[in-house]
Amino acid sequence: MQDLLKVAIPKGRIVKHIHRLFQGAGLPLPEDLDDSRKFIIPVPEMGMEFIVAKPADVPTYVEYGVADIGIAGKDVMMEENRNVYELLDLGIARCRFSVIGLPDWMPSANPRVASKFPNVASQYFREKGQQVEVIKLNGNVELAPLIGLADRIVDLVETGNTIRENGLVELEKIADITSRLIANRVSYRMKNGAVQLLCDRLQDAITQSAAGGR
Ligand code: AMP
Repeated sequence: MQDLLKVAIPKGRIVKHIHRLFQGAGLPLPEDLDDSRKFIIPVPEMGMEFIVAKPADVPTYVEYGVADIGIAGKDVMMEENRNVYELLDLGIARCRFSVIGLPDWMPSANPRVASKFPNVASQYFREKGQQVEVIKLNGNVELAPLIGLADRIVDLVETGNTIRENGLVELEKIADITSRLIANRVSYRMKNGAVQLLCDRLQDAITQSAAGGR
């Protein structure tokens, strides 16, 4: 039986970007990738098997080799710090990591920062030499400054609509974020032909899309 390249795909908001990118590379993905209750979708005619994962779990699957390659946001890569190869900047799902707070934010004696990304937040403030207490939340982080749980948050900003609607402002940018193609270190060597072919096709699609100004 053909050894399929196992590809971990994050479900949720970036699936539409992934569909477009793979389409541009001449590799149309199964339509039901994100709607399906099936989490393993073999597509033998593409030589691939897709594993639909929670975005934050993609680098874990790839590090442990249950997926040969995967697509993960740089945000997740920074937070998870997994031992994988980062092969390609896919240039999709562009956003930024920022420190966010109320417009009248002032430094306090016991600063608290809430985030879904506690490692990123801790590292950022440690490198700045600022001592803060980082509080891990699992969602609706924008609430934290509004209800007095934290004086600032670290979160992703794309259009800025969410923070604006909650009366918050961006105080500092931490990093620009895009999605990356990542590979398991062993798979990269053992399945190098298939991995390299996919990389080349995606790179061509990215270059063409940039040239088309889309
Ligand atoms: P926006 O209102 O467009 O600035 O989007 C901000 C909200 O969407 C925040 O709750 C973010 O956590 C989330 N968000 C923005 N961009 C991304 C992304 N690329 N991946 C995951 N979540 C994101």
